[in-house]
Amino acid sequence: MKALALTPGTTKVELKDWDEPKIEKPNQVKLRIREVGICGTDREECSGGRADAPYGEKELIIGHEMFGEVVEVGSNVKSLKKGDYAVTTVRRSCGKCAACAVDAYDMCYTGEYTERGIKQRHGFQAEYVVDEETFVLKVPPSIISIGVLTEPMSVVEKAIDEASELQARRLPTTKEPKAWLKDKTVFVAGLGPIGLLAAVILRLRGARVLGMDVVDENSARPQILKELGGEYIDGRNLTPEQIHQKTPQIDLILEAAGIPKLDFDLLNALGINGIYVLTGVPKDAPPLNVDGAKIMRELVLKNQVIFGSVNAGFKHFKMGIEDLEAGLKKWPKTLPKIISNKVPITSFHEVIAKHTADEIKVVIDWNQFSS
Ligand SMILES: [Zn+2]
Ligand SMILES: [Zn+2]
Repeated sequence: MKALALTPGTTKVELKDWDEPKIEKPNQVKLRIREVGICGTDREECSGGRADAPYGEKELIIGHEMFGEVVEVGSNVKSLKKGDYAVTTVRRSCGKCAACAVDAYDMCYTGEYTERGIKQRHGFQAEYVVDEETFVLKVPPSIISIGVLTEPMSVVEKAIDEASELQARRLPTTKEPKAWLKDKTVFVAGLGPIGLLAAVILRLRGARVLGMDVVDENSARPQILKELGGEYIDGRNLTPEQIHQKTPQIDLILEAAGIPKLDFDLLNALGINGIYVLTGVPKDAPPLNVDGAKIMRELVLKNQVIFGSVNAGFKHFKMGIEDLEAGLKKWPKTLPKIISNKVPITSFHEVIAKHTADEIKVVIDWNQFSS
């Protein structure tokens, strides 16, 4: 079969012949890859950044945002059958810690977890992959067009679910985390795939969504936000203090920009009892001057919470699939627009190293190898 292999620590990425994986245990599932999304992590890997080949190997098959079709199942597999559409989770147990012991690999304590396509495990940019049933989720045929968005959706589901769980525990207004978001005001910073998928989930839960970016209002990302019922804020025109004056009670800020200066400034826009979740991973930058006393004072006196969230496990993949289904039903023309570019695998060079204009989510299409 063909696979897209990177020599970690270099920029050498090649589409090459590779041994096709086989089912070796009764609990395994073999999938034919249809599409694989690309994100900043893949681009960082392919620019010589963070990526590790499996132990004893020199190359890593990249790709962690997949959508595929089951072609074979082991004799013990119950939840999937040949012909089902499916996605596979990314992170695997370190085998040592308390979080991994309860299958919460996304919360691994030791940092010795592995990740498909990123850390010591081959990824999904290949014609076929094999994995265990417990890591594979069925995707309904109704969302074939956007099934490849499941992995980024799972990351957003986790961030929003954690914020909602915390608030539902802290505030006596509701016991049900999903219901906590109804009629709340949520500020989404950065309208890339993560920010727009967050808007989908938040609008499905009945929140008012203010989405900020630094592009013209009539360009693609603000338009998608508005079609979802969100309100666009051009960050070039308003400071966080002005946002706070206009909208004093922002209940949740979901950060998906990865810009430290902006992200600390945005604390000024967070309301009473507000919660702020960071999902962006900034590149190295010179130290930042912030007003530490003011930040501490506000966090304490306003009962605010700030936390970070990364990766996702089975629960949030499942929620992601459910919300992609509900979202596509509600906005059938809008959700597919989040996939802005689709290129055949043979043209991977066009998208792996650089952003294209007005890009949202780039997807690599493996269907040309379907037999
Ligand atoms: Zn990704
Ligand atoms: Zn662990």
